[in-house]
Amino acid sequence: MKAKTIHGHEIELKPESIDGLRMCLRGPVIIPGDNGYEDSRTVWNGMIGRKPSLIVRCFGVADVIACMHFIREHELLLCIKNGGHNIAGLAVADGAFMIDVSQMRGVWVDPEKRIAHAQAGCLIGDVDRETQVHGLATVLGFISATGISGLTLGGGFGYLTRRWGWTTDNVTALDMVTAEAELVHASRYENPDLYWALRGGGGNFGIVTSIDYMLNPVGPEIVGGMVAWPASDAPKVLELYRTMAESAPPELTLVSIMRPTPPAPWVPKYMHGKPMVAILACYSGNPVEGEKIVAPIKSFGTPIGDVLVRRPYVQMQTLLDAAQPKGRRYYWKSEYLTRIEPALCDKVIAHASRIRSPHSALILFQIGGALNQFREDHNATGNRNARYLFNVTGSWEKAEDDEPNIAWARDAWNDMKSFSSGGNYINFLTEDESPERVKAAMGGAIQRLGEIKAKWDPHNIFRTNRNIKPVPTLQDI
Ligand SMILES: Cc1cc2nc3c(=O)[nH]c(=O)nc-3n(C[C@H](O)[C@H](O)[C@H](O)COP(=O)(O)OP(=O)(O)OC[C@H]3O[C@@H](n4cnc5c(N)ncnc54)[C@H](O)[C@@H]3O)c2cc1C
Repeated sequence: MKAKTIHGHEIELKPESIDGLRMCLRGPVIIPGDNGYEDSRTVWNGMIGRKPSLIVRCFGVADVIACMHFIREHELLLCIKNGGHNIAGLAVADGAFMIDVSQMRGVWVDPEKRIAHAQAGCLIGDVDRETQVHGLATVLGFISATGISGLTLGGGFGYLTRRWGWTTDNVTALDMVTAEAELVHASRYENPDLYWALRGGGGNFGIVTSIDYMLNPVGPEIVGGMVAWPASDAPKVLELYRTMAESAPPELTLVSIMRPTPPAPWVPKYMHGKPMVAILACYSGNPVEGEKIVAPIKSFGTPIGDVLVRRPYVQMQTLLDAAQPKGRRYYWKSEYLTRIEPALCDKVIAHASRIRSPHSALILFQIGGALNQFREDHNATGNRNARYLFNVTGSWEKAEDDEPNIAWARDAWNDMKSFSSGGNYINFLTEDESPERVKAAMGGAIQRLGEIKAKWDPHNIFRTNRNIKPVPTLQDI
């Protein structure tokens, strides 16, 4: 079987050497044509169609270590997959050996210490469901099917970010298999350089096998959901969004969405496909207080639908899942913002009116609060001046519609990027982004990340990611 090396050559892997690997593993080795190959190689974004030469679905740390020995021996190109949700498809590379950690989905919660120990293959929903048994939660994203590893290693934000910061601000420790195939622990006390780098530096340093998260009391009942109006009300609704967000307590996270109305049961049929504006809200504190705080949204104008109610936090975490199915074509453009200017709202409305697909949207996320209170170099996530994020989310079905949908997203972004804080979210970058945009996402952390990379992965074995080149430090020269 042919496989690609790290040097870009194609080599032949002998059946007996693959059999040898198989004997060291609990999880299956999957090659093209095998059951499960298509499922493992395909990712959330249907625009990505890469084909690894060989996939191992690891069942535990020992499998990861065995794979790493094999990869080193044959100098193979390696890619790492958890949820496969990265929009640029970083989890999959042509000809590579794919380490698929998605079967490692155990979660152990210590309610006394308020720590969740999650295996690296968990999806957000796995962690939320187990921590909510104890009325606890950590900061994770908005869609329950997203993988925790890619999200956490790139920063991470969600409904709890305003209270407790980036996901990375809530990580207390990680276990990782190194380029030398050794298992190491990273925390404040052990390998602190690696601990700093893994919290924002992506999959550049090794294969993370588990993550420990700090937990806080949340729910189980919160007030959350969405209220929607016809897009003709957008100027007033976005002004409501803007002013409420400015003075919102940290327990409240507000998101505005402009898009064609989805065929959801909570909006009338006559509105399906017609443009709407919506406010998505989550109040994660006391629900009695939450109901009072979201009342101005529920009583505003004449909504076409209102599902902003008391509900379990785990339900809130799945509310948007159906809108983001695996396999559609996706193209996003995003920027961080320090505030929302009225002029930006005008542009959101103008570009929403030009949406080309029933699934595309213009979204403003509120994230300011706790993350702004840490020093810029608290960990490698940086972007400590970000208070909002705008995301232009192109989403459509067919390849022949790529051009107009991508053009729409790029036009909207080009017209709105002057409002940017200067930074953007690394996990929202598409395949075609320039090195400047990647640099902007990493900010001032790049130099230190490069030095830590030189220590942990000097030969850049972990390169199918937002790659940080190993940089020699002054001591090395
Ligand atoms: C629908 C949708 C909603 C989203 N919502 C949010 C949100 O609310 N908040 C947010 O912060 N982000 C969000 N994201 C972005 C998300 O953080 C990234 O897509 C992230 O990459 C997903 O993680 P994953 O594990 O599924 O990544 P994968 O696609 O599986 O992997 C991406 C890359 O991460 C690295 N990686 C993955 N696992 C490991 C590992 N175990 N060890 C080392 N490196 C690893 C590798 O470099 C890999 O190539 C969303 C994405 C989508 C598609």
